[in-house]
Amino acid sequence: MGGGTDSITTLVIACMDWRLNGPVDQLKGRGDTVSLRNAGGNVLGLEDAINQALDQYRNISKVVVMTHDDCGAMKTVRDVIRGKLNVGADVREVLVEQFVGKVDEKYGDGEFLRELESKNRKIQNAAIGAICAARQLDVVDATQSVGSIKLPAHPPGEAEATLVIARPSSRTTASLLGELGVSPYKAYVIEGDVAALLPDMKVAVGLGVKNMVLYAAEGEAHDEAVRDKARIESAVPGAKVTVARSAGTTGKISKSTS
Ligand SMILES: [Zn+2]
Repeated sequence: MGGGTDSITTLVIACMDWRLNGPVDQLKGRGDTVSLRNAGGNVLGLEDAINQALDQYRNISKVVVMTHDDCGAMKTVRDVIRGKLNVGADVREVLVEQFVGKVDEKYGDGEFLRELESKNRKIQNAAIGAICAARQLDVVDATQSVGSIKLPAHPPGEAEATLVIARPSSRTTASLLGELGVSPYKAYVIEGDVAALLPDMKVAVGLGVKNMVLYAAEGEAHDEAVRDKARIESAVPGAKVTVARSAGTTGKISKSTS
């Protein structure tokens, strides 16, 4: 899409939360932006993908960090720290550990969450800052208050959460969800390397996501997508993955669950 890698000037690191799809698309709609998304907008879990994107898109001059309030990833962190929730060693290592000992135990649940969200904002901006300083890029803190985001309407009937897993691209979330036929309401989005983002998918399952759609872009090898699906389903208990393969010019998408 667009004018190739040269036209990309902005990289966005954002939480996978569906409510950030709109703010992410405000940037992506300009056609000059690529996004990477995981649980919490966690730079540690995206480090390789960030460096890869900065190497691939040579004209990136700005990295935008998008954390937010009422964050499910931070609720996960809170509940693990408080001993109310068990997660795998990988989730602990890549997400939770950064916050251990950083928030006063005396806080009640609501205040504890707000403190974690404030720490997350600082931690992610600092982590990106370290990467960007070496490359002389600007960092923009675009943290969001979900109460002020215009959200898609609740569809008729029950609204089940879906997680879309895609490779980083400049395509808008709205366009991708449209092609996939996934309702934008409660459509979480993970963008990056599948193998590195398994902990984030586990967090998503913990937040109530059961159905995952793995998007294989045009030209991507089918066996690679099938292998990724198998990898996710064996590593992430409770995940049901559908591979959606773009048919490119025909505009028709083919989906398979096996
Ligand atoms: Zn979040």
